[in-house]
Parts: sequence; C-alpha cells; structure tokens
Amino acid sequence: LLLSGCAQSKTLKVGVENDFRPFTYMESGEHKGFEVELWEAIAQKGGLRYELVPMETQEISPALKSGKIDLAIAGMTVNKARKDELAFSDPYFQTGLVMLTTADNETIRSKDDLQGKTVATKLDSTSYVYAGSLPGLKEAKGYPDIDQAYADLLAKKADCVIFDERNIHDFMQHAGNGRVKLVGEVLNKESYAVAAKKRNRYLGSVNSAIEQVSRNGTYESLYMKWFGS
Ligand code: GLN
Repeated sequence: LLLSGCAQSKTLKVGVENDFRPFTYMESGEHKGFEVELWEAIAQKGGLRYELVPMETQEISPALKSGKIDLAIAGMTVNKARKDELAFSDPYFQTGLVMLTTADNETIRSKDDLQGKTVATKLDSTSYVYAGSLPGLKEAKGYPDIDQAYADLLAKKADCVIFDERNIHDFMQHAGNGRVKLVGEVLNKESYAVAAKKRNRYLGSVNSAIEQVSRNGTYESLYMKWFGS
C-alpha cells in the first residue's frame, strides 16, 4: 500500500455555520469569513484534507460526539461545561458578550436594568446560558439563527440582545446601522477554539498549525483583513 504525500488519508468533516458573521457564514453559495480563511491556513500547515459542513450552533456538539463531523470552527467559546463533553484546541480569538438595545431605549444602561425585560439571543449559545442566569429577567428567548433575535429587537419584541461582540459589531455596521446601540460593559470574557470529540487524533496538528500561522504573520494579516486595525 502506497500512501500519498498527505499526512492523513481521511477527508475531515469540519463544522462551520451559515450565519455567524464575520467568522463563518454563507454568501452567494460560498463559505466566507475570518474562521473559514484561518481554517484554510491551519489545514494547509497541518496537512489536513477537509470539507466544510454548514450547521446550526445547536447541532455542532451532538455532531462532534456522534462522529458526524470531526472538528468544528464556528466561534465556539471554550468553557468548563463544554470541556466536560468535548476537546478544544488552543484558543485563537479573545472576545466577550455584549448588550445591544434599540437606539431610542433610555431604560437599559447595564445588566442590572434587565429585570423584568426580555432578552433575545441564539439558542444553546453561551449568551443564552448567561441570559438564563440573570435574576428577575422576564424572558430569555433563544433562536437557532441570531438574525431572528435581531429582528425581535428591531420589532420591539425584545428589549435587548446579548451576544458575541464581533457579531453584534457586524450587525451594527449593516442591517442595524443607526437603529441600535451598545450598552454596558463586556459581560463575559470568552475565547474561541477549534472543537473535537474527546480522544480525537487531530488537535495536536491543529495546535501546532495555529502556532505556526500565529508566528508567520498569517494570523495577523487575516485579523487585519476582517477586523481592521
Ligand atoms: N460563542 C458563542 C458560543 O460558543 C456563539 C457561537 C456561535 O453562535 N457560533 O456559544
């Protein structure tokens, strides 16, 4: 049996998302985003052949556990609860959760003003868990797609959206432009990492590739391209 130059024989299935701008999203039938390009660089350094599998946030952990996908790069926040169930690479992005309300809202200035209010966010996200832990909240609404939460906010069916800050910035620059505003401090500091099931054989190569693309300037040029200075 002859093996080709590729370090691995199998084509990895890598979970991504349709609508997590600017990290991983679909546009004109193509996968786009910072993470899509970062993954391409990581896979090249690590000698990993792959195909991207678009899914919703809530589908990713089950798909990793069942082996439907091998890895996921989809803005996945590393935390204790998830580490009990999955394995994660070294983190490649530092971020946090923020609060967004409508431009004309005068009542919400910090998380303490959320008592009796409705918060909309994405189902199964760290924001959904965070919102659920706030005392006195009227309701935490979770949607498979974050655009539904933004739609609720604009339609005043929710008082606030709590979500990942870079996605919120993207919304503010596009559909939400002039209609919404950020309030309060960063609620929860988080970092993103590549996820896999426990006892996988890929995260070693992924980690060394992350280190290489960080050292050789690739990470920085992708960061500049997608997030500016
Ligand atoms: N970072 C958040 C989480 O891990 C949201 C991820 C996402 O929407 N893709 O839950």
